[in-house]
Amino acid sequence: DKQSAHAKNPSLKAEVDALLVELGVEPASYTGGTLVAKTPINGETVAQVRQVDANSATAAIEKAHAAFLQWRLVPAPKRGELVRLLGEELRSNKRALGRLVSIEAGKIESEGLGEVQEMIDICDYAVGLSRQLYGLTIATERHEHRMAETWHPLGVTGIISAFNFPVAVWSWNAALALVCGNSIVWKPSEKTPLTALATDALFGRALRRFKAEGGSAPDGLSAVLIGGREIGETLVNNTRVPVVSATGSTAMGRAVAPKLAQRFARAILELGGNNAAIVTPTADLDLTLRGVAFAAMGTAGQRCTTLRRLFVHESVYDSFVPRLKKVYASVSVGNPLAGNLVGPLIDGLAYEAMQRALGEAKAAGAGIVGGDRVNVAGAEAAFYVRPALVEIGGQTGSVERETFAPILYVIKYRDFDAVIELHNAVPQGLSSSIFTNDLREAEAFLSARGSDCGIANVNIGPSGAEIGGAFGGEKETGGGRESGSDAWKAYMRRATNTVNYGRTLPLAQGVKFDV
Ligand code: NAD
Repeated sequence: DKQSAHAKNPSLKAEVDALLVELGVEPASYTGGTLVAKTPINGETVAQVRQVDANSATAAIEKAHAAFLQWRLVPAPKRGELVRLLGEELRSNKRALGRLVSIEAGKIESEGLGEVQEMIDICDYAVGLSRQLYGLTIATERHEHRMAETWHPLGVTGIISAFNFPVAVWSWNAALALVCGNSIVWKPSEKTPLTALATDALFGRALRRFKAEGGSAPDGLSAVLIGGREIGETLVNNTRVPVVSATGSTAMGRAVAPKLAQRFARAILELGGNNAAIVTPTADLDLTLRGVAFAAMGTAGQRCTTLRRLFVHESVYDSFVPRLKKVYASVSVGNPLAGNLVGPLIDGLAYEAMQRALGEAKAAGAGIVGGDRVNVAGAEAAFYVRPALVEIGGQTGSVERETFAPILYVIKYRDFDAVIELHNAVPQGLSSSIFTNDLREAEAFLSARGSDCGIANVNIGPSGAEIGGAFGGEKETGGGRESGSDAWKAYMRRATNTVNYGRTLPLAQGVKFDV
């Protein structure tokens, strides 16, 4: 009955209020505003967030530019100290922020906490980086000359982020941009404003500690702009912003990229994926089963790296796919805070898009397991679905698109070279993997004639990257790289320096110009 359903699903608003207070968010910022914040867990309205208008967004960008002019003069290891303190705030508030991520984005508990852990990890990484940021010394043909490359702060870094990693994406950009000497302006997803406000509040605490320790940091170093796409556009169009990191759908990237190109700003684009895995004849099928299940159903199929296409060799198809179907039929779907593995879709639009894609596959003759709506007591306004496994004959129609929901298209293959070709024959190029114990296949998959994606894995699924590597993808995924490796260079400008420490002026290439 209704009463017991409510007892099992108590209102989340009270908990959200308590978390926001614990995390130090100013109540005025989330009461009485025009942006309705809902939790996908039960569809309840949990806050009414105040939005900025274009004028105040522009003012924040101006302020961030002024802050940049100061911050770039602070030695990089000192800038690193601010990021170290941010990492400490995140460590001590991991539980609260992780819980808020789970409530606002609908993630299971360990994934909400994992997202905050990823923020901590990038802070640690950036602190180390703040004592590096190194250039090169380059051989010069001229006598008594030295040639070098140096890296300098770039300016205001714009960050536009998606709902599905509501705070980690900010941290990948923010931690690097800050140690690189830039100021930051963030336009979070309008579907996840509360975690953005909470993250901003923790940054504010780190900043106060930094200043209390004697650190100097200008006002306006970091700003959060709550609003919709038009506020994102303000950031994209403002010439004070030399680099914009934009994470979201390919449609968003298609709108943003030409505007940035028009004014010669840098774009770090992290767009949609249509990630695949190949299950070969020698695959360890137990391991593969777990890898596929996590990659395809985790976060209810709402990761940019979610496994969406599975190519299974004909020799293992009949032993593997029925086992996978069993997992699909039995995986627990429901409240992500109550120990289930598959939580809700973000909203009704996501549900409709999923049903449309499944309808298309059905019309193309596919066999579908799952995909139906799951009713969760007390959460009638939420959108829970059983993940869908779709056996389909070819890669056409919806298989070529990213539908941001748990749909796994399964396709049988025979020939290795042909499957690689099929693997690469989609417009997106984010992540990929192969399950094999055949060295030749594994290496071929990672080679120039193999996967064309930014991420290529062996014997693990396509999702769950660590921050030490560069993250991003090719083709319609946008080509951007964030996080580890040398991704920091996108947030700095490079200068080539030639110094003459002799008493003559030899010209390069033997040119003579004697006046
Ligand atoms: P979305 O494209 O709807 O929105 C993303 C962000 O862009 C939001 O903050 C939105 O307000 C803003 N935006 C939209 N149009 C804009 C415009 N014209 N100008 C400026 N800003 C604009 O994406 P979503 O539904 O929040 O997230 C899901 C998508 O994000 C999926 O396609 C997923 O693959 C992708 N994603 C990619 C990565 C990656 O690293 N490659 C990571 C996470 C999510």
